[in-house]
Amino acid sequence: MMVQPIEDLHADTAAVPALDVSGLSVEFPSRHGTLTAIDNVSMQIAPGEILGVVGESGAGKSITGLAVLGLLESPGRLCGGSIHVGGRRVDTLTEKELTKVRGREMGAIFQDPLTALNPLFTVGKQLVETIRLHTGMAKDEANARALELLQAVGIPAPEERLRQYPHQFSGGMRQRVVIALALAAGPRLIIADEPTTALDVSIQAQITALLRRLCDTTGVGIMLVTHDMGVIAETADRVCVMYSGRVVESGPVADVIHNPQHPYTIGLMRAIPSLHDRVETLAQIDGSMPRLNARPTGCAFHPRCPHAGSKCSAETPPLVPVGTTSAACWLQQGGTQ
Ligand code: SF4
Repeated sequence: MMVQPIEDLHADTAAVPALDVSGLSVEFPSRHGTLTAIDNVSMQIAPGEILGVVGESGAGKSITGLAVLGLLESPGRLCGGSIHVGGRRVDTLTEKELTKVRGREMGAIFQDPLTALNPLFTVGKQLVETIRLHTGMAKDEANARALELLQAVGIPAPEERLRQYPHQFSGGMRQRVVIALALAAGPRLIIADEPTTALDVSIQAQITALLRRLCDTTGVGIMLVTHDMGVIAETADRVCVMYSGRVVESGPVADVIHNPQHPYTIGLMRAIPSLHDRVETLAQIDGSMPRLNARPTGCAFHPRCPHAGSKCSAETPPLVPVGTTSAACWLQQGGTQ
């Protein structure tokens, strides 16, 4: 039996974007001044679409996901822009209002499934309570939905598994339970932050295939946050490449992969292992992501960029359409000198 498609739950606004982030900025006040972690980031996710958000550690991709969920850790705070989930503005809600929206309209999947599960309660109890809290379903109905959800995420013998505790599941099966929990209330949006990073390689492809299938069958929109361009290539519809708190390239996955415009994206693409080209080592991008308190002026990628010119360290390139994608690089905007 399939889980009820969310188009049925949200029939009134099925055409509205699952997520619309516009001009989002996040800052962290510190003793040495205010540090901007996210700078004017915009992204949209349609119902049933997977948007990959990719970049190295420190690019700002996880902070973007946490900001959408309203889970920024203090002293981090929003300082500009707006966030709409299913057409509803969420960045101006009170904590109490946001708590309701978080379970009902937004689900979250993080790297370690154990942090999302309570070791003291059976998987069935956790699923049923989550379903009832956010949907108001009667107990019998919630039990039936919990069973459907475990079936939908590919857990064998779901009746028996509902009576078991998290420690009785393997890592991959636990992550499937977390995905079921994230889907429990029929959300419009799921933020999946490195959902496969802690899993065995053989399990990773199964989990990304599951996310793809659930996206197609339930209509949920997914923000897939990862450092791995290979995962994006296999799973996402569109991609946002982030570098040092900004989006540097975005567009349909196939276009970005086959014809990347930004030198940073080109570097990420070279780091993907290819089945066809037998190479001993993967290409690396020289240097590392700048720290928040040492962000270079102009294009933050300029100290690592093989094409950098004098303009690159002086002025920040805007994100503009380039063919079928958008890129923030002076190379496509009149030159780097
Ligand atoms: Fe490289 Fe300049 Fe483009 Fe930045 S703006 S990616 S430094 S060429």
